[in-house]
Amino acid sequence: MHRRQFIQNSLMAMTALQLKDLTELLPTGYDGVMPAMFVGHGSPMNAIEENAFSNEWERIGKQLPLPQAILCVSAHWMTNGTKVAMTDKPETIHDFYGFPEEMYRINYPAPGSPAWALTVKDTVQTVSVQEDHDWGLDHGSWSVLKKMFPEANVPVFQLSLDAKASPEQHYALARELSGLRERGLLIVGSGNIVHNLRMAQWNDSAYDWTIEFDEQVKELINKGDHQSLVAFRKLGRAADLSIPTTEHYLPMLYALGASLPGDDLFYFNEKNTMGSVSMRSFVLG
Ligand code: ZN
Repeated sequence: MHRRQFIQNSLMAMTALQLKDLTELLPTGYDGVMPAMFVGHGSPMNAIEENAFSNEWERIGKQLPLPQAILCVSAHWMTNGTKVAMTDKPETIHDFYGFPEEMYRINYPAPGSPAWALTVKDTVQTVSVQEDHDWGLDHGSWSVLKKMFPEANVPVFQLSLDAKASPEQHYALARELSGLRERGLLIVGSGNIVHNLRMAQWNDSAYDWTIEFDEQVKELINKGDHQSLVAFRKLGRAADLSIPTTEHYLPMLYALGASLPGDDLFYFNEKNTMGSVSMRSFVLG
């Protein structure tokens, strides 16, 4: 993506631009470096509903350059050790219960990419990435990608979250992936910054602490203070309520870790819902 020369060439100087449109990040077109992105996926129903969130996914998808492949780190694939999915025909996994029948018929037929998966395995040095031949695409991946890339013509493969790794280790791993953006890989973290389903309400609302933590995260991202975001257990009560378990938060650290010097920052779906779910999403590019 276009590099704005007036932005200091430092990760710490990531600048949140007040842009209405992702295309404003691409004033002279795509320069060959794919963005890194975090998407708040929320309810699986966003995959079939036409709503503000899914409409935005569709809009962003149209504005993104076409990647060589998409690496998705989803909240819904947590394993013992880090795994990369090697299959060339990833199955659409319906990893939820009690949803309308239509949801279980969804098929997202994007191909996988064993070659890209091997590249990821070879690139990562901080941990030993294991090859996985079973996992396909869980709803953290396909619910979003179905709207962003409806033609399913870009290869997609997933990297798992190691349940035993520390936030620092997740971030360090993500840092190692950042260079692959220059080779055409779109890196997508899919989760939610605030995700506390025990306290969720089935209406469009937000607790005070949801708003507080979502705002705090935004400010830290704007400042480029990734270390405070990695050390989220020190951020206080709102953080603790927002992250009762880490799987929906960690994918955001992958997007941040994959940032490159000079990246601009673009937010979308800056909204809280269901009391305790933040849909805040961003593109770094
Ligand atoms: Zn989820």
